[in-house]
Amino acid sequence: MNKTIAFSALSRNENIKQVKSEIFDLVVIGGGATGTGIALDAAARGLKTALVEKGDFASGASSKSTKLIHGGLRYLKQLDMALVRETGTERAIVHRLAPHLVLPEKMLMPIIKGGTYGKWASSFGLMIYDILAGVKAADRRKMLSKEKTMQLEPLLNENGLKGSGYYAEYRTDDARLTIELMKTATQYGAIGLNYCKVEDFIYENDIVKGVLCTDKLDGQTFEIKFKKVVSAGGPWVDKLRKKDGLVKWKKLHLTKGVHIVFPHEKFPLKHTTYFDSPDGRMIFAVPRGRITYVGTTDTNYKGNLNRVVASQADSAYLLSVVKYAFPSVNVGVEDIISNWAGLRPLIHKEGKSPSELSRKDEIFISKKGLISIAGGKLTGYRKMAERIVDLVIKQMDDVTKVPFGKCKTEKIPLMLEPLANTKAVQRYIYELEKIILEKGLVKYYARYLVTNYGRQSNLIIEKMNDFSDQPEVALGRAEAWFSVHHEMVNRAEDFFVRRTGRLYFEIKSIKLMREVVMNDLQMYLKWDDTRLKAENKIMDELLYDATHYYEKELEAVS
Ligand code: FAD
Repeated sequence: MNKTIAFSALSRNENIKQVKSEIFDLVVIGGGATGTGIALDAAARGLKTALVEKGDFASGASSKSTKLIHGGLRYLKQLDMALVRETGTERAIVHRLAPHLVLPEKMLMPIIKGGTYGKWASSFGLMIYDILAGVKAADRRKMLSKEKTMQLEPLLNENGLKGSGYYAEYRTDDARLTIELMKTATQYGAIGLNYCKVEDFIYENDIVKGVLCTDKLDGQTFEIKFKKVVSAGGPWVDKLRKKDGLVKWKKLHLTKGVHIVFPHEKFPLKHTTYFDSPDGRMIFAVPRGRITYVGTTDTNYKGNLNRVVASQADSAYLLSVVKYAFPSVNVGVEDIISNWAGLRPLIHKEGKSPSELSRKDEIFISKKGLISIAGGKLTGYRKMAERIVDLVIKQMDDVTKVPFGKCKTEKIPLMLEPLANTKAVQRYIYELEKIILEKGLVKYYARYLVTNYGRQSNLIIEKMNDFSDQPEVALGRAEAWFSVHHEMVNRAEDFFVRRTGRLYFEIKSIKLMREVVMNDLQMYLKWDDTRLKAENKIMDELLYDATHYYEKELEAVS
């Protein structure tokens, strides 16, 4: 393992120099969960690997999900047992690899008269679900009476409620999981470049052997050469396939999913709840720290891929399902403090509605050697990576005969000094609570730090000593320092949206610390005033989109 490669924005020029001058075994296009998972798997097996991402890591679907590491109960309804078994088993593995980031979460599934799942079907379905995923006996599903259900979640609609299923899943932060995957890949020698867009493919004898990239931060273009290339471009996969030739046979079907966020005091949900909406769709309501979020919609999408926004119809729909399932929760559009909207890169099947489309991943191999992967789930990133890297190695073996070996990621923790398990995570939170209180912060920030950064929290807390601002601002500044030097933050949005989740979960705190953090970023990243202005403009746009509801989708740009 190579511990010398820093994942610092300050080493970007060095990284670019390196990617220009070497020939890689594998170049991965796309820095979402799929691409970073592939980069880690490949690098850990010894492939010389580079990953390029046109925006920030996780700026596509991988920061817009429901943020659950779940087996997918709905696949059971579709009788897709293999998918349930795989994602179900993967949950526990990803939890073991990052126990601070993939947290056990008990789910409540109310059973209502005339709902999607009846009492016996729920009981049987959840039992099969647990068995397929190998859930330990103590964690297996319990079927609860109406009274017990109301005790656990008093906000639920009592009318028509027959009881509930209470079962085990996991919750995560998709963007942080992605960044830890990329960081871990760099520990094995991979190079990860954000803001590096693949514009075109370069061929030798009609086989793809290079990509032409643009550095989106300074406009320079350069080539990267490789033996094999994988496109994990998420919703952009077909755009990349088009550059390589015609998109034949299967193509993507994009559906939009929106989540809305309420302050927890306005929607004081106790348990993550997976419930029926009046139109039969299943919706999640998730309590998380100081907020509760609700999602998701699932509608066909043909708009702008780079700026996906929530519409008035989306917020009205989600508010109506909240009212239906939690009638005592009195919330309107004015109570929504933030939202996020993302695209599912699903595989098109004629005649299927968005909710009926399979969530399975598929691999496409072009005549010229471009391997693309799309579909799938955040939860299944590791197995998707294993399949892809097996394929790449098989293709390379024919030529190089280098014994790269089997997938190792089941045993690679997603952190240099990992916490051992949930108990260790809890102990560390208690430890930090004392220190956090001494720093003038409320206890909440101990959990926030540990579940975002694991043991790296120590570095951030120590850095707070350098700042004399009020405690929350000092914390933000320490995080900004950490995220530039250890997490490749190149733009303000990387910090406020994906490294800290503040745009979604702590939107008020942005106002509090924005100016001072922007000044710090300007200093660390050597921005001139024009760049600072541009960064502020992007932040204004993001804040606007997270707090407004559009009449219609923004138009696609070619
Ligand atoms: P992305 O994250 O979109 O990554 C693709 C990347 O490729 C992008 O960052 C993009 O910028 C980059 N790229 C594209 N073109 C280029 C180029 N030319 N050059 C360089 N880079 C390029 N899954 C779960 O397991 N649990 C959930 O709870 C869950 N909920 C979901 C809810 C919603 C609303 C949505 C939309 C998805 C949800 N998913 C969930 C699915 C999950 O989010 C996706 O399957 C996963 O994030 C896809 O990751 P990806 O890496 O394939 O795509």
